Amino acid sequence: MGLPPDHRFPARKYRMLRDALTGDPRFEILPSPLGNVEAICEAHDAEYVHQFMQGELSPAAVRRIGFPWSPALVLRTLASVSGALAATDSAQESGFGGALMGGTYHAAWGEGSGYCVFNDIAVSIAGLRMRGWGWRVAVIDLDVHQGDGTALLFAEDPDVLTLSFHGQNNFPFRKQASKIDVAFGDGTGDEEYLAKLDEVLPRVWAFRPDFVFYQSGVDGLREDKLGKLALTQVGLEERDRRVMTAARSYGKPFVLLLGGGYAEPIEATVRANANTYRMAASVWG
Ligand SMILES: [Zn+2]
Repeated sequence: MGLPPDHRFPARKYRMLRDALTGDPRFEILPSPLGNVEAICEAHDAEYVHQFMQGELSPAAVRRIGFPWSPALVLRTLASVSGALAATDSAQESGFGGALMGGTYHAAWGEGSGYCVFNDIAVSIAGLRMRGWGWRVAVIDLDVHQGDGTALLFAEDPDVLTLSFHGQNNFPFRKQASKIDVAFGDGTGDEEYLAKLDEVLPRVWAFRPDFVFYQSGVDGLREDKLGKLALTQVGLEERDRRVMTAARSYGKPFVLLLGGGYAEPIEATVRANANTYRMAASVWG
């Protein structure tokens, strides 16, 4: 993705995850198509989209994204968003679709933030609506950072339910209002986290969404260097099992997106991510 070698974002996790799942006959792993700029412009300010594509963002706007701008970053960003769109298509056809990247939920209407250029969830919802489909959508965002961009983009939209589980004392420090926010203190473990999940999930199905997006970030893992929570691998697996079995029995299309993970060593993040996708395979397989 064209990052300088000393950049702190663990970009190699994507390849490691793909390698971990390759060879498992339950997965059909396809290269991401490149770009549906029309859908991106439906979800974002067209001027912002243009400036990013052309490398014309201000230095402050680039710093807020957190990646140095390069033509490779543009390609990577388009591939990431298009992966979410392709996963959405797959979910519409078969009930399930997943992307091995994405979940870029900090991006808002006219700016990127926190390693997110475009909000792939919002772009995918825009893509559905451009086809006249998917009127009510639920976004289940269990990444440890608040889904502030998604919250802002759909704050006034009664047909999109945004749910965010996140660390109280973590980025973004200025939280936005999701439709449902659950904030956890530092060091929260599996038991408290899963109890909250059991309490809140029924509200998602009660909303009667036609489509469900799951941002499955694993940065709540104890080994994560940014997360501040203390979830275990077993706890995260249980989290995914509860979300996905409930979604499966609810019965509407479900899209799985990767989200964050910054463990040291990064192998712990990749293991948790791979477990999420394997759980999806066993639930929908
Ligand atoms: Zn995160």
